[in-house]
Amino acid sequence: MKLTILGSHGPYPGVDGACSGYLVEDNDINILLDCGSGVISRYQKYHDLKDLKYIILTHLHSDHMADMLVLRYALDIMMKKGYIDQPVTVYCPDEPSKIVEELRFNNVFKIKYIDDELKLKIGNFTITFKAMVHPVKTFAVKFSDGDKTFVFSSDTIYNDQLVSFASNSDLFLCDGNLLNGEKGPHLTAKQAAEISKAAHCKKLVVTHLWPQRLMEEYEKEVSEVVNDATIAKPFDVYHV
Ligand SMILES: [Zn+2]
Repeated sequence: MKLTILGSHGPYPGVDGACSGYLVEDNDINILLDCGSGVISRYQKYHDLKDLKYIILTHLHSDHMADMLVLRYALDIMMKKGYIDQPVTVYCPDEPSKIVEELRFNNVFKIKYIDDELKLKIGNFTITFKAMVHPVKTFAVKFSDGDKTFVFSSDTIYNDQLVSFASNSDLFLCDGNLLNGEKGPHLTAKQAAEISKAAHCKKLVVTHLWPQRLMEEYEKEVSEVVNDATIAKPFDVYHV
């Protein structure tokens, strides 16, 4: 499978930046994982919007879903012009309900809810979920192709569930928004590295980066715990 970083900023995009958005591909399947500000523009560098069939939203904070609101318009026009004849399937939490309602615009999305029991089969992928700890209902997600696994933490504070869910993953993409000593509803880069180490992940990529911070600050903190971790950069590609 292949992961492409479309956007790695949070909670807002910096200059020429984009918020949470990742393209997960295997053979002819492509899945958009999160859809924050700027992500739809970048998705189109790789695929036409008519090839977008599946979207997973790990939670309904704006920096993970804001572009869904403009994607609604794009799909509505495409449907009316006959460019597409099916809604895009969207997997997301069932709350906040006000935001779920925003996604019901003209039935351009077929909405399905995520919970810990959901197990999706899309192409070669088996996709599972685990509830995290964040101010709104949020899920970490795991993609397995039968051989390799890729885990995305989404947004969370430290919790043991994430260590077991990420266990032995080949690629672990983890929230590391904060630096050691800072407080907020996110992991620090150091905690991301500690979780990766405790879970024996083979490769860590730290994401959800505050645009005003030097990337070197994240790199320094992570490198104190694990070797060979990287900080997510737009358009970087990871083959898993
Ligand atoms: Zn969030």
